[in-house]
Amino acid sequence: MLYDLIIIGAGPAGLTAAIYARTRKLKTLVVDATEAGGQLASLYPEKGIDNYPGYVMTDAGQLATHLINHAQSMGCEIHERERALAVEDKSGHLLLRTDRDSYETKAVIIATGMGLFKPKRLGVPGEDRLEGKGVYYKLPERDALAGKKVMFVGGGNSALEMALLVCDRSDTCLVHRRDKFRADEAIVEKVQMSSIERIMSSQVVEIKGDDHVTSVVVKKGDELEERPIDAVIINIGTSSEAQDMEGWGVELEGGLIKVDTDMCTSRRGVFACGDVVAYKGKYKQIVVGCGEAAIASNSAYKYIKEPYWAK
Ligand SMILES: Cc1cc2nc3c(=O)[nH]c(=O)nc-3n(C[C@H](O)[C@H](O)[C@H](O)COP(=O)(O)OP(=O)(O)OC[C@H]3O[C@@H](n4cnc5c(N)ncnc54)[C@H](O)[C@@H]3O)c2cc1C
Repeated sequence: MLYDLIIIGAGPAGLTAAIYARTRKLKTLVVDATEAGGQLASLYPEKGIDNYPGYVMTDAGQLATHLINHAQSMGCEIHERERALAVEDKSGHLLLRTDRDSYETKAVIIATGMGLFKPKRLGVPGEDRLEGKGVYYKLPERDALAGKKVMFVGGGNSALEMALLVCDRSDTCLVHRRDKFRADEAIVEKVQMSSIERIMSSQVVEIKGDDHVTSVVVKKGDELEERPIDAVIINIGTSSEAQDMEGWGVELEGGLIKVDTDMCTSRRGVFACGDVVAYKGKYKQIVVGCGEAAIASNSAYKYIKEPYWAK
């Protein structure tokens, strides 16, 4: 079967590109190496989103679900847990090779975001052994934390917002290695007005417990303090596996895909959008990725159909 368009990545950018492609009735397939929804679903589903126009406040998981439902309701085919490996040339078309199959298509949009990201780890004793047993990298069910002593590690929006989500039901503290948070001022203000204990200029040096976390050792200057803790949620950023990028056959800039203002890459028929693209002034935000996706989809449509109005 020949697709008009294949989109690699079902994050907000890929799903928006799919929605736009379907308004043009392009036969569209989206493949995602994990689950649809991108970072919103896999990294911070419970985090509040207050900068997506039209929603004063929603949570990331809910926004991801709306985007997935929207793309599916428009007749878009989504394959989850299928990793794209390479885009090859095939008799005037392109061939997407994945870890499950190969698909022929007229055009490709790359929307692989941060790639196959993994949360960064502290690298302290006890962390690996107690992962899932009190050590977490995304927020567990909030009710499971009710009445518990919960420590968040990190100073960015995500760590602070997660702490705010549970501080009404848990004894919550935040550990940050610097003396100032790097989160948005509005979020820092909410933390300052909350019951969250702030442990600044400090680092977690060990996580203790037999079958489950029971305490965490925190270092401030030369002083060590062991605090009784039931759950420690680490949010110090992500690292990604960027090796897939070599398979796309496009020009890169600083490890990201170089695009022009039409979201065209250096390769004919291959477009890109979202966190994976690089240009001056790029701002890695959902709404920006969605805007680029609309452009990428429109450019792909013009490339595939060559409509009279685009000549
Ligand atoms: C903790 C945190 C909080 C954030 N908060 C906000 C916020 O409040 N507001 C905001 O606007 N932005 C926020 N962002 C940024 C926002 O999440 C990103 O800008 C957005 O997710 C980018 O969307 P994307 O579709 O480009 O990529 P992603 O969301 O990264 O999705 C890419 C998808 O591609 C898939 N993929 C990767 N490689 C392959 C492959 N080889 N084959 C198939 N599939 C592949 C991945 O599995 C993933 O599902 C936040 C980011 C983080 C990390």
